[in-house]
Amino acid sequence: MPARILSGIAIRDQIQAEVTVEIEQLREAGVRPGLAVILAGNDPGSEIYTRNKVKTCEKLGIYSERMVFPETTTTEELLSQVKLLNSRSEIDGILVQLPLPSQVDSKQVLLAVDPQKDVDGFHPMNVGNLVTQRPGLVPCTPAGILEILKRSEIPIKGQRAVVIGRSDIVGKPVALLLMHHHATVTVCHSRTQNLPAVCREADILVAALGKPGMVTGEFVKPGAAVIDVGIGRITTLEEVERFFPGDPKRRSQVETKGSTLLGDIDPSTVLPVAGALTPVPGGVGPLTIAMLMVNTVRAARLRRSHLAAYVAT
Ligand code: NDP
Repeated sequence: MPARILSGIAIRDQIQAEVTVEIEQLREAGVRPGLAVILAGNDPGSEIYTRNKVKTCEKLGIYSERMVFPETTTTEELLSQVKLLNSRSEIDGILVQLPLPSQVDSKQVLLAVDPQKDVDGFHPMNVGNLVTQRPGLVPCTPAGILEILKRSEIPIKGQRAVVIGRSDIVGKPVALLLMHHHATVTVCHSRTQNLPAVCREADILVAALGKPGMVTGEFVKPGAAVIDVGIGRITTLEEVERFFPGDPKRRSQVETKGSTLLGDIDPSTVLPVAGALTPVPGGVGPLTIAMLMVNTVRAARLRRSHLAAYVAT
């Protein structure tokens, strides 16, 4: 039987409905959560991502601002914007869209964000909170992956989980979250030996390596839950035939738009082996923005001690 497809869209809608109720409760307490998004430079992906984030805020009733800086912006300019946002009480969350232009010291800018407003969960203070399981703000994509697993009733406790990728943004935090949910976790990276054999031990396999289509059926234990975090593109009809054989929609996307999305998983060989698989698009991606909304509401509560009782653990 081919793998069950784990739709991130249905789960996103569920989470957004829950967030809307929370926003309503906050409104009754006289609080409107606010998010500021900083975009610097001309990265086309970042342009789309930041617009979508602001649009989702508007849809759910979160106040939002999008601040745009030119490609030539400096570290100092961004630092003074972050400082200003730190001091504004109506702003609960500050998101600095990455990548920043190459002359900007990204680490310094991220470090300047008030940890209480760090809705991306990248500040070392929130990394420490995550490691030590203290209340804080958890990175959005890893948090979204856990929501997919839990809401799809994929068992985690006692299971073997393998994460491919050890980035600060995805690999490391998702490994920690899985460990905190009592999985036995192995983290792989570019120097891991016998990668397919290690991955074949996994009941839960998370692929976050940024190598489109690299993870084939050979990496997957029969029946495993496979989470595809990668966002890549293929541009040729030969690739479409290899990864999406006989799929007219994918073919037409390449013919009309010049490309189609492909994650790190090769669906043509993984679908027949896995028990469950997140699609790309429509899997992990939609959860990332939903969890940003969750974090913004959470930040609004964490900053106001009289509302702390509302904060879920
Ligand atoms: P990074 O490039 O920061 O990290 C990639 C990781 O994969 C590294 O740890 C690297 O190992 C490892 N890796 C690379 N090649 C191999 C290989 N051949 N075998 C084993 N491990 C390998 O990427 P990110 O973590 O930021 O992102 C990963 C993917 O997820 C990207 O495609 C990105 O676009 C996507 N993404 C999707 C999001 C979403 O919302 N869906 C959000 C964020 C990211 P090493 O450390 O040794 O170099």
